[in-house]
Amino acid sequence: MLQPLFQKVAFIGLGLIGSSLARVIKQQHLAVEVVASTRSKQTLADAKALGLIDTGFSQAIDAVQGADLVVLALPVRATQQVLETIKPYLSKNVILTDVGSTKGNVVAAAAAVFPEGFPEGFVPGHPIAGAEHTGVHAGRADLFADHKVILTPLDSSAPWAVEKLTQLWQAARAEVICMDVQKHDEVLAHTSHLPHLMAFNLVEQLASRQDNYDIFRYAAGGFRDFSRIAASDPEMWHDIFFANKTAILNAVDGFEAQLKSLRQLIETDDSHALMGMLGHAQAARQHFNHMLAKKPLMEKNKVTQQFNILPGSHRFNGKFTIPGDKSVSHRSIMFGAIAEGTTQVSGFLEGEDALATLQAFRDMGVSIEGPKNGQVTIHGVGMHGLKAPVSALYMGNSGTSMRLLSGMLSAQQFDSVMTGDASLTKRPMERVAKPLRLMGAQIQTTGERGTPPVSMTGQQQLKGIHYDLPMASAQVKSGILLAALWAEGETSVTEPEPTRDHTERMLRAFGYEVKTEGNRISLQGGGKLTATHIQVPSDISSAAFFMVGAAICENADVTLEAVGINPTRTGIIEILKQMGADLTVENERIAGGEPIADIRIRGSRTLKGIHIPEDQVPLAIDEFPALFIAAACAEGQTILTGAAELRVKESDRIQVMADGLQTMGIQCTPTDDGIIIEGKGQANDWSDIFTGGEIESHHDHRIAMSFSMAGLRSSAPITIYGTETVATSFPTFTQLTTQAGFSIEVEENQ
Ligand code: NAP
Repeated sequence: MLQPLFQKVAFIGLGLIGSSLARVIKQQHLAVEVVASTRSKQTLADAKALGLIDTGFSQAIDAVQGADLVVLALPVRATQQVLETIKPYLSKNVILTDVGSTKGNVVAAAAAVFPEGFPEGFVPGHPIAGAEHTGVHAGRADLFADHKVILTPLDSSAPWAVEKLTQLWQAARAEVICMDVQKHDEVLAHTSHLPHLMAFNLVEQLASRQDNYDIFRYAAGGFRDFSRIAASDPEMWHDIFFANKTAILNAVDGFEAQLKSLRQLIETDDSHALMGMLGHAQAARQHFNHMLAKKPLMEKNKVTQQFNILPGSHRFNGKFTIPGDKSVSHRSIMFGAIAEGTTQVSGFLEGEDALATLQAFRDMGVSIEGPKNGQVTIHGVGMHGLKAPVSALYMGNSGTSMRLLSGMLSAQQFDSVMTGDASLTKRPMERVAKPLRLMGAQIQTTGERGTPPVSMTGQQQLKGIHYDLPMASAQVKSGILLAALWAEGETSVTEPEPTRDHTERMLRAFGYEVKTEGNRISLQGGGKLTATHIQVPSDISSAAFFMVGAAICENADVTLEAVGINPTRTGIIEILKQMGADLTVENERIAGGEPIADIRIRGSRTLKGIHIPEDQVPLAIDEFPALFIAAACAEGQTILTGAAELRVKESDRIQVMADGLQTMGIQCTPTDDGIIIEGKGQANDWSDIFTGGEIESHHDHRIAMSFSMAGLRSSAPITIYGTETVATSFPTFTQLTTQAGFSIEVEENQ
């Protein structure tokens, strides 16, 4: 058996908090002996009957003798008097801690008792857990589980004491955080004391009205939720409000100022600003939750998920609107924010990457309404209207946001910092920081590999540069072009080969002149953007799954509306046509500077294998997993070369697809830069191709959606694991396949 952490633990005070900790200690045998001292004999008798203590003492001095841990679990105002009483009886190496809700006054009380210096075992603490009921019977062993405990070690606190207390609270399944005393009181004033004060205040306001009976009788959920904490112990809160007076008064001042400006927005009918404020608060609430939990923005990613697809005859018909393009969604927010006037965006992709961009601009004071069903309204602040964010901008997992914003933020009047999640924190940022420095930006990346966090120092006057991009990267090109909007003179970027040109097109849509001459793109700084309407085209990379599904399913007839057909992205259309698919591009038009069209695909002709032309590879790079499914259903061999990049996407897409195809009875040979697939199809024969099986998608959304389409031609069930990432790029995927007549069962695994 493990050694207990402590020999003798003495509680002074054994109510809700003390008795909960005593329960943990007893249940887990963390001490040889547990004793307590309280005011009333009854509490001690009850505690003994509940098995929480071995002995109860009416005098604190009797309890603390020989104890190696003393826990003050009583109202903070009693601290000084209790410490004075027990001081002569404390053991030399005792750990002395408390659980009080305020820390400055506990430390001040201890300082008065120990003028010669604190004992090195003195480590104040505060569990951020509680309940409305108090007393020894209200305690629970799981009260602290999944809650935080703040320890506020002093300069005099010994590391061994902090370490042992940490172990104790961790045994209670709490997360232990260390903080200095003043910080603790400031943070708690805002996050706990002010909300309690407001709850007491609101209930009092309503209770003092003549019609209070009716008000309470008809009170809706909002009142119930908001006022719940006003049922807390008045004595304790009376003490806390005085104990943390300075920090609480500051918090109340901040609240008054905020309330005044909210009042004024309503009084002056300032609908835009009010909407902006409410939207910002709502988004911040969600955002903070995720930041604190270090979880991705979208709740769905918490769970893993699988798709189950049953064999049988499937239909695949209908007209569909596929979710919006991610690259265009990002840019619509960025450009709408710095434009003059109000920009309406439709078809915005509500995936977590684009939401991170949206939040960043809210944090810089831009009023943004939505997104609601893909509609976003951005009240542009002009080229000089962005405000300094109060804290670091959190970009989640979005490399696009971080690289593009590096350019934009380098040119602002204020300092800024961008951070991201664990995966973004590993991605290189120097490739964009270097050219920005040449423009005069003060930009700093982190560590030897030049990764996030990225910091920008404001108030630099940037100058135009002429830059030869060492690698083909639309993100680096865009980062430079965005900084160039504020730079003196002309900036040009020359690309080794053409990359996606969404930035150039959308800048033009916002009325900004951008020249493209061969591979050289240039613009003059100092202009302005004018608000416009942006229809985000449907993402051709997402549409690709439906194109392939329709091409391999007999009698399918699918129309995908308003799909982006930017010439840098249309490889999928060309390749499917070369394989013999019945695919037409109809109703071509321009929206928000981007070419879009309706794409109709019919399952009227079986496919043929081809050697994919290498010049089409960069234009279809994200669509190959779907094309491999088409190739498996084609007659003869399909050969892909020149696509080594596929091995370093969200997964090694060549190997992962080859493994899955082989599992489902398809012969294929992965190569260094491509794959050879032996298609099992026969001319004019629509019988099943795949043998079913269990597929591991490696949490790669494109792999998951590609193998889903194989379900249209499978003789046995298919299970695809790790499909939760599908929601980030194509939140309506299974809903739309069901509408088409092909059902995919979604199973969530907690
Ligand atoms: P509680 O349930 O009311 O228990 C208080 C205990 O302290 C009782 O055992 C009481 O003795 C004893 N006590 C009171 N005055 C005393 C005195 N002058 N000398 C000796 N013992 C005395 O209170 P609690 O909720 O556990 O709160 C204890 C501490 O935890 C407070 O400092 C509070 O700020 C902090 N805290 C509370 C919460 C919460 O939600 N309740 C959360 C975090 C931290 P009797 O049993 O004889 O009355």
